[in-house]
Amino acid sequence: MPIDIRQFPCLSDNYGFLVHDRETGATATIDTPDADAIDRELAAAGWKLTHILNTHHHWDHAGGNLALKEKWGCTVIGPTGEAEKIPGIDRLVGDGDEVMLGASKAVVHTTPGHTLGHVIYHFADDAAAFVGDTIFAMGCGRLFEGTAEQMWSSLSTIAALAPETKLYCAHEYTKANAAFALSVDPENDDLKTRSEEVDALRAKNIPTVPTTVALELATNPFLRAGDPSLQAAIKMPGAKPVDAFAETRRLKDNF
Ligand code: ZN
Ligand code: FE
Repeated sequence: MPIDIRQFPCLSDNYGFLVHDRETGATATIDTPDADAIDRELAAAGWKLTHILNTHHHWDHAGGNLALKEKWGCTVIGPTGEAEKIPGIDRLVGDGDEVMLGASKAVVHTTPGHTLGHVIYHFADDAAAFVGDTIFAMGCGRLFEGTAEQMWSSLSTIAALAPETKLYCAHEYTKANAAFALSVDPENDDLKTRSEEVDALRAKNIPTVPTTVALELATNPFLRAGDPSLQAAIKMPGAKPVDAFAETRRLKDNF
């Protein structure tokens, strides 16, 4: 069923997202970076919060859970793998589980790497996926808890979604990500074009999120770890994609 999505910046570089099921009025916040900012957006939209969908346990994703649950009595849904770390959690979800937001359905995919329990919420009928800190525009989450193998597999899950799927990343990291991407993928014309577009948008403080699966497949160096020209640039010609991914992530950590 149709959903409306309201996106807003909060904290230093996070995005908040409200998802509203038109048919029933059910409304979710994807993560809880800032309870006050989320409350302001709810008031501005005239929506009542019914669900919190957490992607992972970090404070800038679950820190507002208790304040919002207290105020709204909403249902808190989050990853099984991080149940002890998600304040106020009511329902634990894992790979393949379905979450109904009123009449709209999201499918849960586990995407370990940034954290071990990280999940994303895919509203397939609406071609929208809320990806937390797994993938960013031209970037991916740091490997705080998981391995490169896990993250490569998680990114492959996202890359396999329909190309037109909008990816709602939790941070505006795009400009810095583009600078790194150009350093490891200098021959990529799509990337050069996109980098210029991003500079123009950010100069006017316009969000670069959401991105799409198709755009990331063309320009995200972490999805392009199997590409010969990227492998040549990082001096790993003929490498297995997962090994080139691990090296690209390591280079980004030191960029
Ligand atoms: Zn995080
Ligand atoms: Fe985060």
